[in-house]
Amino acid sequence: MRKKIVAGNWKMNKTTGDAESLVVALKAELANFREADVVLCPPFTALATVSRLVQGTHMDLGAQNMHFEKSGAFTGEISAEMLRDLYCHYVILGHSERRQYFHEDDALVNRKVKAALAASLHPIVCVGETLAERDAGRVEDVVCGQVRGSLAGLSAKELLDTVVAYEPVWAIGTGRTATSAQAQEVHAMIRKTLAEMSDATVAQSVRIQYGGSVKPGNAKELFSMPDIDGGLIGGAALDAKSFIDIVRAAV
Ligand code: PEP
Repeated sequence: MRKKIVAGNWKMNKTTGDAESLVVALKAELANFREADVVLCPPFTALATVSRLVQGTHMDLGAQNMHFEKSGAFTGEISAEMLRDLYCHYVILGHSERRQYFHEDDALVNRKVKAALAASLHPIVCVGETLAERDAGRVEDVVCGQVRGSLAGLSAKELLDTVVAYEPVWAIGTGRTATSAQAQEVHAMIRKTLAEMSDATVAQSVRIQYGGSVKPGNAKELFSMPDIDGGLIGGAALDAKSFIDIVRAAV
């Protein structure tokens, strides 16, 4: 059975002080929570603070991006080794905001995924269609194309160390959630694609999160779908009570 995984993507929010208050509140409820994996992905500037606070709990640390090179003249960038140094275990890669505003394509995401895996980080690889692509009937083509491109060349072991996040772009930060049936349909397509890229056993073991306006009120229904293995949470991860309620919905 796949263990559910709920990750909070704080995006460009929270100073170190705000981060500390949020993690202290989360720890009060989730420090010993083991029924699902819980991952906090603060901005780079708060990683060290959150890392210190989650030591000794069952919550894990993740970053929101990284560069594919190990080191060098890449001003403003952060390497996988630097993330490991802060005890990060996960890194979100290919988020639609990175794809849209920073022109990241599947080839670049694939280089980052390989660099993350080489450094023993678990990549959380985001895929998802825009509303125009959905309306044009291109969901499978776009999403499965992103899966194939972003995860190209990975071994079975590397696929098993990877989490896929299906995040329809039209549902991110909009308050518009995919229905559980719409999300399940795409998750099943992604799992089929993973089986074609590897084999059925691997595909059955890879965790696929849903992301896009997940809230305490819709999490339970989404997470109960057969191919939905938890969530990648944006806005609702910034508030302790909302995030705790969403995590509890994964049980
Ligand atoms: C996200 O950006 O990963 C996300 C899912 O955001 P929100 O929950 O705010 O839609």
